[in-house]
Amino acid sequence: MATQRTFSIIKPDATERNLTGAINAVIEKAGLRIIGQRRIKMTREQAERFYGVHKERPFFGELVDFMTSGPVVVQVLEGENAVKAHRDVMGATNPEEAADGTIRKLYAKSIGENSVHGSDSEENADLEIRQFFSEAEIVG
Ligand code: GDP
Repeated sequence: MATQRTFSIIKPDATERNLTGAINAVIEKAGLRIIGQRRIKMTREQAERFYGVHKERPFFGELVDFMTSGPVVVQVLEGENAVKAHRDVMGATNPEEAADGTIRKLYAKSIGENSVHGSDSEENADLEIRQFFSEAEIVG
């Protein structure tokens, strides 16, 4: 299995509850290394572009409002099979369906305010990392 990179966001519901360190601990315990990290306030333009694939979904407006409602922490994670490893430790989108020990089971408030984002493919990871990071900001 190859070393891979993935893109992660700690969402506003989590930063608001001061959970950045707690979530990072779960990520690191899963064997992933945080090789890029920055705390930002997303603009509407950034959030609309980032979630462009969901533009036609009924929850799109709510999602953009939420993602711009407070600080987020954008991250680049690296590890063996990182995309899947991170999706596994995040848990299901809906926290009611998330497995025990996953970040969403531990911390998510609802299907919308679900604490974390993780890329769903290597191709999307690459695009998402490039939306928020320059190579110089990623130190593996
Ligand atoms: P993910 O890959 O597990 O994050 O899930 P999706 O790609 O399906 O959805 C992206 C994000 O949209 C989710 O993480 C939620 O924050 C949000 N979302 C998904 N479904 C719903 C919904 O039914 N209602 C609301 N308000 N937000 C949703």
